[in-house]
Amino acid sequence: MVMLLGKYGRKIKSCLVKKVLKFRFFEETPEPNILCLGAHPDDIEIGCGGTILRLLEEVPEAQFFWVVFSGSQNRCEEARQSVDLFLKEAKSKKIDIEQFRESYFPFIGGQIKDCFEKLKTEFAPDLIFTHYTNDAHQDHRLISNLTWNTFRDHFILEYEIPKYEGDLGSPNLHVCLSETHVTQKISHIYSIFQTQKEKQWFDPETFRSILRLRGVECNSPSRFAEAFYCHKIVV
Ligand SMILES: [Zn+2]
Repeated sequence: MVMLLGKYGRKIKSCLVKKVLKFRFFEETPEPNILCLGAHPDDIEIGCGGTILRLLEEVPEAQFFWVVFSGSQNRCEEARQSVDLFLKEAKSKKIDIEQFRESYFPFIGGQIKDCFEKLKTEFAPDLIFTHYTNDAHQDHRLISNLTWNTFRDHFILEYEIPKYEGDLGSPNLHVCLSETHVTQKISHIYSIFQTQKEKQWFDPETFRSILRLRGVECNSPSRFAEAFYCHKIVV
């Protein structure tokens, strides 16, 4: 067994990541279970929507469990429409939208932890997408902490969300995206999440610019990429 420890701020060689991902998804687990966790509707899409679109093409047998932990009635409806759009080609998908009070996650952490404990009994993930451990938003941070707290022997990738607080760092795992995936991701998000359009940050330029910058960092052939924080890879 080889264990590779990735440290924040240090890039894991992309060829190595490709080998690891290929090993894990195509050979060891041809039908991987992928768990997507987001504190709010639209988090998963913004953080890893392009990677999910790419995975659906490259690993069509993947099975998804998509969990959103909060949302008003309108936002929940948007979340459902969005999952249908992003996972249109998925062989199997399950969605769970919880109703925990937005912005108060650290104060109701016990209830959310109970939800994680239940989740653990319902799905055995091969790959988990969750929030960045050092995300400046308290709800995001709690979901990340509980992910690591609950799933002790799993492959976890932490995605990033641009925001006013300016918490972007140096992710160490980059996923190159085609121009088609970039366009699809942005157009899906912008067309579905109508309730967010009054927010100053919510526009196609925000979403495209971070993908372009991460593409620069990994010399992406298409110029675009999503990036993640990976604490640990075990192969
Ligand atoms: Zn959020």
